[in-house]
Amino acid sequence: MKKSPRGAANNISLMLNAVLGADRFEKGPVDVAELALEYTKQIEPSSHIVQIVPEDLPDCEGALVPGEGEPRRWAIMYNRKQNAGRRAYTIAHELGHFVLHRGLVDDDPDFDGGFYCSKNAVEHGAGRDIEKEANEFAATLLMPLDDFRRFIPSDKLANLERLGQAAERYGVSLTAAALRWLEYTNSRAMLIASVDGFALWGKSSEAALKSGRFIRTKNEMFELPAASMAARKEFGDDALTGISQLAGVWFPEPTIEMCMRTERYDFELTLLHFAGKAPAWQGEEQFEDACTQFFPVTGKR
Ligand SMILES: [Zn+2]
Repeated sequence: MKKSPRGAANNISLMLNAVLGADRFEKGPVDVAELALEYTKQIEPSSHIVQIVPEDLPDCEGALVPGEGEPRRWAIMYNRKQNAGRRAYTIAHELGHFVLHRGLVDDDPDFDGGFYCSKNAVEHGAGRDIEKEANEFAATLLMPLDDFRRFIPSDKLANLERLGQAAERYGVSLTAAALRWLEYTNSRAMLIASVDGFALWGKSSEAALKSGRFIRTKNEMFELPAASMAARKEFGDDALTGISQLAGVWFPEPTIEMCMRTERYDFELTLLHFAGKAPAWQGEEQFEDACTQFFPVTGKR
C-alpha cells in the first residue's frame, strides 16, 4: 500500500516524542541529519542513508542519490549555499523521498540516478506528485501540528515576530513556518512573496480563501498596492508587528499589514491579517484556480 506522507512523518514524530519527550522542541528542533542516518538504518538495515553532504548543485536544492555498489547505499546532497533553516528543510524533503519513493529508482527509468529537486520542489512541492509528497513529509516532520498548535493556537492571529519565533523553534525558514501556520489556522491571514512590488506567489489561510481574500499570480501579474510597505520599501520595526491599512488598499476591508525582507534579501514577505470571522462570500468568481500558485513570475522586468 502507498504510504501517506503525513502518516509516515507522524510515525517518526511519535517515536521522537517517546524517546525525547513530548516537550522536545523546548530543547531544540529536529536534528534531521542525524535522524536521516539513524532512522533509515532502522527501517533498511542493509540499504540505508550513509552520508549527508554539501555540494555545488547549480540547478537544484537537494538530491537523494543511490550508490553503485550492492547492497545499495544512499546519500543526501544539499546545496552548500543554503543556510541552516533551508538545509534542514532540504534534508527532510530528501528523507521523505527515501521513506516514500525509494522504490522508484528500480521501477521507473526517470529515477535511475535518484531524485534531484529544484528550489520550487523543495520549498513548495511544485512539479510531480512526489515533490508535493516529500514537501508534505518535511513540513509534518519538522513542524508537527500538535506542537505548533500549542505554540500558536488555531484561533489566534500570529504576527511576523511570533512566526519568526516558530521558525527558530523548528529550525526552518520564516517562510516555511508561516506557510505551515496558514495550513491550520482558523484565523484569516495571507502571505505574499514579492520582488520589486510584484507578487511571486500568495497563500491564504482556508478561512481567508473562503471569504474571497486571495490573490491570483498564475498567468497574471499581481502588482502590490502602492501604499503597501513592500512597494514603499519600508522595513522598519513596526513593519514586523504591523500597521493598519484602510479598506480599499488591499481588499474592500481594512487589514493589518506586516512586511520583512528575507535573510538573503531575495524577496519580501508580506503578511496580512483580517479582523474577525469571515464576512459572507458574495463574489461570483470561482477561486479554484486561485489557490497557491508557486511558479515564479517571468518576464516582468
Ligand atoms: Zn524532491
